[in-house]
Amino acid sequence: MIAGIFLQSTDFIDAAYIVAFGLMIYGMSGLTGPRTAVRGNKIAAVGMAVAVAATLLRHGEFHGSGTVVLIVVGLLIGTAVGVPAARNVKMTAMPQMVALFNGVGGGAVALIAWVEYRHGFVPAHHPPATGGWPLRAEGFELFGAIIGSISFWGSNIAFGKLQEILPGRPIKLPGQAVINVALLVVAVAVAVVLASGTHSELLFIVGILGVSAVLGNMVVLPIGGADMPVVISLLNAFTGLSAAATGLALSNPVMIVAGMIVGASGTILTDQMAKAMNRSVPAIVAGGFGGAVGAPVSSAGETEGTVRSTSAQDVAIQLSYARHVVIAPGYGLAVAQAQHAVRELERALEAKGVEVKYAIHPVAGRMPGHMNVLLAEADVPYDLLREMDDINPEFPRTDVTLVIGANDVTNPAARNEPGSPIYGMPILEVDRSSAVIVLKRSMASGFAGIDNPLFYDDKTSLLFGDAKASVSEVTAEVQAL
Ligand code: NDP
Repeated sequence: MIAGIFLQSTDFIDAAYIVAFGLMIYGMSGLTGPRTAVRGNKIAAVGMAVAVAATLLRHGEFHGSGTVVLIVVGLLIGTAVGVPAARNVKMTAMPQMVALFNGVGGGAVALIAWVEYRHGFVPAHHPPATGGWPLRAEGFELFGAIIGSISFWGSNIAFGKLQEILPGRPIKLPGQAVINVALLVVAVAVAVVLASGTHSELLFIVGILGVSAVLGNMVVLPIGGADMPVVISLLNAFTGLSAAATGLALSNPVMIVAGMIVGASGTILTDQMAKAMNRSVPAIVAGGFGGAVGAPVSSAGETEGTVRSTSAQDVAIQLSYARHVVIAPGYGLAVAQAQHAVRELERALEAKGVEVKYAIHPVAGRMPGHMNVLLAEADVPYDLLREMDDINPEFPRTDVTLVIGANDVTNPAARNEPGSPIYGMPILEVDRSSAVIVLKRSMASGFAGIDNPLFYDDKTSLLFGDAKASVSEVTAEVQAL
């Protein structure tokens, strides 16, 4: 009895919240490097579990047996869906998985707004005339409802595009921007009317959620499928903001802190991804880039010349007699799932005394840290990985650079051609090494849909084929030498 009272005392719950924040922030600091990331994730998860338990104690939820059953059923359903999904997801499908789970967060916030309105957040319970805290609380709640609903529906569209349930190409209506602004104005206006007192609160809250739902769809449909990882990061920031706003409305510190962490980190990540692609966030949201399937377009507007095709045997000879080899992986490595094969090749070359390093571009692949995660999966030693700024000065001393399924992140047009759509994007300067071997299946372009002058360079040769098959063939040849 005394223990029960102590566990539900404000002091104990506040202390539990502080422990939870501490664990979440400490855990997140572990996410700065692959060595500490898994441990960091587990620590943050423990922090979240402490926060959930403290919140349930705070509301005395452990008293009513009916509520306990509901909570247990919810936890079981969540675990049954979440654990197998997270365990079985392929690394290339990670962006859509994040989209789905992020959407669930936004949807939960929108549902909380709905429930709060049904259970007392109505003007009758909190007369707005004073303009005091209850009115402000309603304002935060409605802000959370709008942003959470946009995030839920937008994330679903992002998932649909990445999963190829919806077309990846931009889908735009004429005057789309005006329609979006009009929808936002309607949602905010209805929220203002509702917060200032009305008897039709149910109709109005449904209206707010409905208009925000249409807006969420309309904002993401015009964006090309391949831009989705950036959009998901942006929607993630939205979900965080909506959760923080709802936390303010409910005076729940854990929602405020966790929401602000998600909001701030999502915003920083969005900004960093956009910078690494040399694009602005408004340009990405305006849509129309990426996701289109078509013939490669020359960045200079004309065919660049002829390419030199090579064989696995020749590549093996070139690599075996080199002293310094750099491997530059990209999206194609992820598609081919060639990470284990690449590790094998690295070992075979090291056995011949060749020094091998990996060059990691911040936006290689389709999600931040994509290459780090793939190579960690294949147990590539972390100290062989070099960030772009560290490896670029080493290319002039590199005998052979092996480009595996990377295209845009190695495109010298980003450095040399002011007219190129990717001009100004920082690249791996592989063309400064003595020889370049590119592994890809065809002359198709990468995400940006532009031709790559690297392929026509005299020092470049191309080994056509699926990256995994090509790398395995080269490894066999190296071992046979
Ligand atoms: P790219 O998309 O530029 O190129 C990938 C290349 O891989 C293609 O040229 C393709 O050629 C080849 N490829 C595909 N499948 C295979 C396969 N099975 N075997 C061998 N090759 C294959 O990838 P990069 O990593 O160079 O660049 C990433 C791009 O994605 C950048 O433009 C970046 O801005 C963008 N982006 C990155 C995000 C991130 O967070 N990392 C987020 C959003 C966009 P072929 O079909 O001929 O085989």
